[in-house]
Amino acid sequence: MLCITVKEGVDCFFMKKNGCQYNQGSCAQIGEECKGCQKIQDFPSGQYCESFPDPARRWTVGICNMATHVKAEVTTKKHKVNPIKASKRGH
Ligand code: SF4
Repeated sequence: MLCITVKEGVDCFFMKKNGCQYNQGSCAQIGEECKGCQKIQDFPSGQYCESFPDPARRWTVGICNMATHVKAEVTTKKHKVNPIKASKRGH
């Protein structure tokens, strides 16, 4: 249904006949960490994320995985070498 609270006119999963079912009854505005992200949308009620209803939560365990202005570090798993097998290979 279309939002009738803070992101008026946006089709949203949380909007039901009896109002917004998300958290306190509406989305939360973007946080400091979001500034510069292309997912930010401006509304008369403030700035909101087009992907997430509570942007601050996306940053509680690191970089938001949908952020366009910063990239999450990609950690590559190093192949563990068994020292015993490696020493045998040398002979
Ligand atoms: S995608 Fe992530 S960083 Fe961008 S506005 Fe939304 S919550 Fe913030």
